Amino acid sequence: MVSPATDITPSYSSLLTEKKGLFGLSREELLELVVGLKQPPYRARQIFQYMYARGGTSFQQLSSLPLALRKELDQKFYIARAAVVSKEVSSDGTRKWLLQFADGAKAETVYIPEESRGTLCLSSQVGCTLNCRFCHTGTQLFVRNLSASEILQQIAITKDALDDWQTPEKRKISNIVLMGMGEPLYNFEQVAQALTIMTDAEGFCFSRRKITLSTAGVVPNIPLVGTLGVQLAISLHASNDALRDKLVPLNRKYPLDELMQACRAYPRLKNAERITFEYVMLEDINDSPQQAQELVRLIRGIPAKVNLIPFNPWPGAPYRCSSSSRMRAFAAIVQKAGYAAPLRVPRGRDIMAACGQLKTASLRMRKSLQCKVEPPTEKERPTEKDGVAFG
Ligand code: SAH
Repeated sequence: MVSPATDITPSYSSLLTEKKGLFGLSREELLELVVGLKQPPYRARQIFQYMYARGGTSFQQLSSLPLALRKELDQKFYIARAAVVSKEVSSDGTRKWLLQFADGAKAETVYIPEESRGTLCLSSQVGCTLNCRFCHTGTQLFVRNLSASEILQQIAITKDALDDWQTPEKRKISNIVLMGMGEPLYNFEQVAQALTIMTDAEGFCFSRRKITLSTAGVVPNIPLVGTLGVQLAISLHASNDALRDKLVPLNRKYPLDELMQACRAYPRLKNAERITFEYVMLEDINDSPQQAQELVRLIRGIPAKVNLIPFNPWPGAPYRCSSSSRMRAFAAIVQKAGYAAPLRVPRGRDIMAACGQLKTASLRMRKSLQCKVEPPTEKERPTEKDGVAFG
């Protein structure tokens, strides 16, 4: 179901004016700003909480500020919200928003509700430079990085839509994954700033344990994820360089031995954390029992879990999803080696919202391209401790 946008907010129209946007600014940047306005430093904190903990968009309504200051803020600044171009709801409850930012660039955001949690999947770039062969986003030309503000606007808009600006215990969005469009480690500075505001106790107040950053393997930036304290996922998809070079061309720059070395050295493993390896199941490409054994040898010694993601089809995709029996056999080998290897349940396929289906030029998927995945058995059903539980 697609509904046209009706909610272009007043703050969006103010993007066309000379006003400066405050949404996305850090505590320090806000402090500098209020000091420049000859205001006491605690005003920065009031604005920070208003934008990020309460979801406020109008300085007029920031009633703890003096009237004159509210007026001044209103004249000089605005709190940004992207325009919602369209919203879609899947038959399984997954929701997807197409957002448009001030310069016209568009990105998608996906919300996946589950019984025990709700996960928001954020985009970090418009388009992607990586061209992974099985990924729909890779067929779109790279447009640009998203700013910290634009990354956070994705959360704010979803919270507005879900009426989710309440107390942390009752939250509809409990988990965040940076698994939408783009490669977050090629936009590290803006992603890091957004994560700092996301996890600030007086900001969005998300637990670092419930935020996962996924990378295709930008090796030099992997240690930096450790400094942010969020969970790390690696899009692996192949257990040898020859195949990974083809599926994930970034592998030619950072081959498997370098990637695995960065994983072994990942500082947070000492804190009893695990790395999640994502592995998309492609029929007759990477799904053989021998490849499962090779995968196990590759990650041996790394505290890890392996998320097996049934391939999500898209128009013109050169691959098909592995059969259920093949995926189960693969999972069994990985599990036997001592790793959790949940087989993901695809979510939001009917609205092209599943992993790797995002692209900001709407294209319809032909029924014949869909592959059948049987529902998981009770044992395979993901649990809270499995972390990311969709594909
Ligand atoms: N660039 C980052 C962030 C994107 S995450 C990364 O590669 O990790 C998106 C996840 O979905 C990645 O694991 C990606 O490899 C996977 N994916 C991409 N296309 C897919 C598809 N068609 N079916 C299933 N998973 C896919």
